Amino acid sequence: MNSKSDICFAAEPALGKLAKWLRILGFDTSYEPGFSVEKAMDSGRKKRILLTRTERVRNGKLSQEFIFITSNHPFEQLKEVIHTLGIVYTDTRPFSRCIRCNTRIQSVDKDSVQGNVPDYIWQTCDMFQTCGRCRRIYWPGSHTERSRDIIMRLFDRNEKR
Ligand SMILES: [Zn+2]
Repeated sequence: MNSKSDICFAAEPALGKLAKWLRILGFDTSYEPGFSVEKAMDSGRKKRILLTRTERVRNGKLSQEFIFITSNHPFEQLKEVIHTLGIVYTDTRPFSRCIRCNTRIQSVDKDSVQGNVPDYIWQTCDMFQTCGRCRRIYWPGSHTERSRDIIMRLFDRNEKR
């Protein structure tokens, strides 16, 4: 089955916040400082959907699939992507990917992160996840709650966990 949760993106440097949000939703999203439209236009070396704000990409002949983003606001940009592709909430896997480096994060034993997170966090949280690549540690903190609210708003969902 071809699931929308397998969609991959490549974002232009101007769309960093959008890229971060797509990662929060669990989508494989490349976002690199060295990215250039020229490289992206160099045809389909990757099966990624290019997210662009560059007019000449829209007007040019690009073999790669792309979405031209019109809004200046990350939340609206995210809506553009979601609506264009018909992504629904069940296609997303929120908080499953490292926001910094795009790698899937994995649950780890609480004891293994002691000393690597602030003491009060270690004492009050029981669930930790780490990125195997950059070693960043994640836990369900206030930022996650705020992000979850934004995701619910994005998909017009009212329930809260
Ligand atoms: Zn990482």
